[in-house]
Amino acid sequence: MDGDVTPVTHRPGRLRIGVIGAGRVGAVLAAALQRAGHRVTKASGASPASQERIEVMLPDVEVVDPDQVSRDTDVVLVTVPDDALEGLVEGLAQLGAFTPGQIVIHTAGRYGVEVLKPATDSGAIAMAIHPAMTFSGTSVDLGRIEGAPFAITTSPGLLPIAQALVVEMGGEPVVLGDAARHVYHAAMAHGANHLVTLVSQARQLLEDAGVEDSATLFAPLLHAALEGALTRGDHALTGPIRRGDAGTVAAHVHALASHNPQMLPTYRELARATVSRAANKDLITTKAAMQILDALDDYPPHDEHAGTTVVHTVEELHALLGSSRRGVVMTMGALHEGHLELVRQAKREVEQVVVTIFVNPLQFGHDEDLDTYPRTLEADTEKLRQLGVDIIFAPSVEEIYPQQRVSVQAGEMGAVLEGAARPGHFDGMLTVVNKLLGITRPQVAYFGQKDAQQLALVKAMVADLNMGVDIRSVPIVRDSDGLALSSRNTYLTPTQRRQALVIPRTIEAGVKAAADGANPREVLALARREFHAEAHGIELDYLVLVDPDTMQPHDGDITKPGLLAIAAMVGTTRLIDNAVIEWLTPDRGGLGATVEE
Ligand code: AMP
Repeated sequence: MDGDVTPVTHRPGRLRIGVIGAGRVGAVLAAALQRAGHRVTKASGASPASQERIEVMLPDVEVVDPDQVSRDTDVVLVTVPDDALEGLVEGLAQLGAFTPGQIVIHTAGRYGVEVLKPATDSGAIAMAIHPAMTFSGTSVDLGRIEGAPFAITTSPGLLPIAQALVVEMGGEPVVLGDAARHVYHAAMAHGANHLVTLVSQARQLLEDAGVEDSATLFAPLLHAALEGALTRGDHALTGPIRRGDAGTVAAHVHALASHNPQMLPTYRELARATVSRAANKDLITTKAAMQILDALDDYPPHDEHAGTTVVHTVEELHALLGSSRRGVVMTMGALHEGHLELVRQAKREVEQVVVTIFVNPLQFGHDEDLDTYPRTLEADTEKLRQLGVDIIFAPSVEEIYPQQRVSVQAGEMGAVLEGAARPGHFDGMLTVVNKLLGITRPQVAYFGQKDAQQLALVKAMVADLNMGVDIRSVPIVRDSDGLALSSRNTYLTPTQRRQALVIPRTIEAGVKAAADGANPREVLALARREFHAEAHGIELDYLVLVDPDTMQPHDGDITKPGLLAIAAMVGTTRLIDNAVIEWLTPDRGGLGATVEE
């Protein structure tokens, strides 16, 4: 074979070849078949580039419409773009352009022969032939076809025909099953196409490092790596991962993070895959693999003493969010031990802890304490620093609400209890929680049991809107006198504070009654009695026993926990408290007789 494309005509037993869509692949394959002695008689190709290619590569061919190509040829090469193939084949079948016994070949890598079904339904013979090489669309390719692998898919009885045609073209047939086509094509793209991206990214880094001729510098190493991978597979691996050198990998991550952060995800994923393959092949120890994986995740660097960063904008925050498991604690500041307990739990459970401090105007009513709510950022920061919080996000109102077109509605569950006393409060709360979850993108978020209705609503929102965040509740933290800690406790005068203690006592009375075996109705009655016996200077808003998930009145079913919840005004300060109550049942050591209604 010498690359001569002059048609050889008038030889018996040769096939009439047609090519539909004479792009680079079509023109070259047709020329290769012509070189083998067949006759390329008809071609179609709409674009000027195709027309020119036909003139150069297939000079004596008649250019006609696609259906005409198919009607008048023994072998039709359908070499249109992958996405156009299906529609084209259907259209040709509808026009009756396929003939019984005719060989129809497509060259789309991702398809098997199924896509040619309209042709086989017309009696044609279908085959998929995908040359695993790149094409320039010129006669140079005819030389390159020699020995190039061609993936062929067709029914078993027809394989010899497909193989023979490939061999005639000069290629090496490799048989592939119909079902394997997509994986085959993904492999080709992943290997050949992504290699281009990989090498280009690496060259860009070299150029950033001041290397002018990155190709020359790279060539020997890349050729050796490719050669090694093709002959020895994973065993050809060299470099820091192969040496188990986690420190160098960490240095790479840090260098990329500061110089070229957009390349970091690719580097990380490829390094992770490299570690995993090397470990599976016993090229590195499991311990080394774990150390390298940690090094890969170590940005921003996790340093116990690295301290707490306070940021005020979403952009600043996002620059600090790493890929490690993150938890968020949302607060309105004026932090006390209750808040800090949420933070401690987060510190125990996740790697990166973000605390948000934002007094959310949306959840305050007109007559509420938005303006006077305590703001103590400096003291809060110090407390959080001591607990080793990674990031404090303390945005302005403008940062959170540059515009407000869409908001979250709490629905019926947000209209009762606290919602009845504070219309719109839970809509505002859920809206900001939703926004802060979107901004901080945590895996886990921590909420206090103190605000039981808030907790239930956040859980409902996350479940109903499929937000994919794990909501964890933290038990109520109380002062030594029993009063639940609250930022609003600072509003109380010493007298009011004493008066407020009836609130925890009321809850405690209910909890104790339940522990003694009282049933739901009795528990509520005993709690009420306690409140009214002791209340001075305090106005009850509600004292209820509800389902902790729905906030609907508890139905008396002792298999379901109850939420005993209270809200009362002490002067102008609204205080709330609650307890979740599990009922004693006979099998849990309770007195059956007392439990029955
Ligand atoms: P706040 O700053 O009042 O919006 O509260 C922020 C978070 O801390 C919420 O999840 C509250 O439920 C929680 N929290 C407030 N006080 C307490 C407390 N005494 N015990 C436990 N969690 C609390």
